[in-house]
Amino acid sequence: MKVGVHTSIAGAIENAAHHAKKIGCDTFQMFSANPRGWRAIDPTPEDCERFRAARRKYDLSPVVIHDNYLINLASADTFIRERSIAAFRRELKRAVALGADYLVTHPGSAKGASPAQAIGTCVKSLCQAASGLKLDGLTILIENTAGQGSAIGRTFEEVAEIIAGAEKDLPMGACIDTAHSFEAGYALHTAAGLRDTVKQLDAAIGLKKVRVVHANDSKTAFGSHADRHEHIGKGQIGVEGFRRIVRHPKLRSIPFICETPIDRPGDDIRNVRMMRKLAGETAISARRSAVSPRRATAN
Ligand SMILES: [Zn+2]
Ligand SMILES: [Zn+2]
Repeated sequence: MKVGVHTSIAGAIENAAHHAKKIGCDTFQMFSANPRGWRAIDPTPEDCERFRAARRKYDLSPVVIHDNYLINLASADTFIRERSIAAFRRELKRAVALGADYLVTHPGSAKGASPAQAIGTCVKSLCQAASGLKLDGLTILIENTAGQGSAIGRTFEEVAEIIAGAEKDLPMGACIDTAHSFEAGYALHTAAGLRDTVKQLDAAIGLKKVRVVHANDSKTAFGSHADRHEHIGKGQIGVEGFRRIVRHPKLRSIPFICETPIDRPGDDIRNVRMMRKLAGETAISARRSAVSPRRATAN
């Protein structure tokens, strides 16, 4: 099983790789620039080289980048859409420069438009953003959502439609978030519900196209359509729910990345350890995670 977390690029972009290694990850996710502003500062070629060297040295794979939260490729507003396409194009360029394997994006939302129209807009925006770029092994992953407001991607079928629309031109796949799925109404917290969810996922998207699982427990109730992440085992999906998820024969070969909150120093290392413990990998965890939780977050 491959486990990782979303790590910070504060100070220097390669710090994400250093921290992932330090807390015993096999893989990790990060932003490639400030995730909440439009004025992203691109890493220099030297930054990219240091990042690539760190990632190679630690053998961390895959490297996943999550795009900026402001990007809305499905927007019905021309101004927001144009801005989003330009920002996503820079996301693609940064991801290629850093040698990332995957760029995860939320499909977006369109007030006043039907889901079918919003899906069409999202596909067009993706193709426009990537037009003429050499993606060099980078695959774009569409993440499913909790279905808050008019967000698209609430169902696996909607994610599949976006992938199908864009994959003629672009390398595409899916990122499935356990909390979003649960909040959207997929009962993966029960044994029968997980069986059914995996079957639906395979039928709609195809498990081969699911390249990353965001492993998050949920603070909010089943079907709430409200996205609040919780520590593994401490939320509504729970310990038994996650034990079944990480041990599922069709899921356990997919990299798991936790986007769980850091309420106290060391929460990220504790979530990684919890994932390994639930998968029955305690011995490996002890060997890989040589540092104590306190030291891991001292800087
Ligand atoms: Zn996620
Ligand atoms: Zn989320």
